[in-house]
Amino acid sequence: MRIDVLTIFPEYLAPMRAALLGRAIDRGLLSLDVHDLRNWTHDVHRAVDDSPYGGGPGMVMKPDVWGPALDEVCAGDPTPRLVVPTPAGRPFTQELVHEYATEQRLVFACGRYEGIDQRVVDDAATRMRVDEVSIGDYVLVGGEVAVLVMVEAVARFLPGVLGNPASAAQDSFSDGLLEGPSYTRPEVWRERPVPDVLRSGNHALIDRWRRDQSLERTLRRRPELLDALPDSSFDKHDRAL
Ligand code: SAM
Repeated sequence: MRIDVLTIFPEYLAPMRAALLGRAIDRGLLSLDVHDLRNWTHDVHRAVDDSPYGGGPGMVMKPDVWGPALDEVCAGDPTPRLVVPTPAGRPFTQELVHEYATEQRLVFACGRYEGIDQRVVDDAATRMRVDEVSIGDYVLVGGEVAVLVMVEAVARFLPGVLGNPASAAQDSFSDGLLEGPSYTRPEVWRERPVPDVLRSGNHALIDRWRRDQSLERTLRRRPELLDALPDSSFDKHDRAL
């Protein structure tokens, strides 16, 4: 997969070259280009923003900078899917993660200030698929952290990135539920023992216990996730809960 990021703070994306993502880049599983939006400015101040039409506080990012930047970065084959982080976007979910993981090219456009002039998004959408995406119901200062979140979530599903792909298949949201608790050695820590069943060696019992924990945790913390699942997602033991 090829990823391009446009930002006025390229250094903010440095963590993408560390740890799991960094290894994926080094191994050629992911290619990453971070572009400084100011390279497409035309004035001595390298301005990327201007005051909003209609008045109001804050500044808006200029279309005459973003337009040529996206034209150049999105050129080539295949045409990318453009992702524009914004709190006003569609929610970023595990479903979207899986969709993005099948794309050959993603371009991320990081907004700052009050965001990007809407015509940039509308214009790009005439030539490519464009998603305005929110990573949660809160407002960040800029899109860079949202891009880190999205790229890390997507990269886990690229072939070869995770040492053991089975671990991602068991994580929260893979079956629509939250994952239950995990334990490791020592067997007793601060007088808290590991649940007996996990030391029983009985894998059928362990699977059933994990499923029950996952259902109970989801019911307590995120009941709307259970409501969204079809009846066919539950077996007869689940229904007894
Ligand atoms: N005026 C915008 C609004 O109220 O919807 C908020 C702009 S925010 C201060 C600046 C930038 O941060 C946005 O353009 C976007 O790139 C990013 N951002 C902030 N919160 C975000 C979120 N929840 N999800 C994704 N991106 C976000």
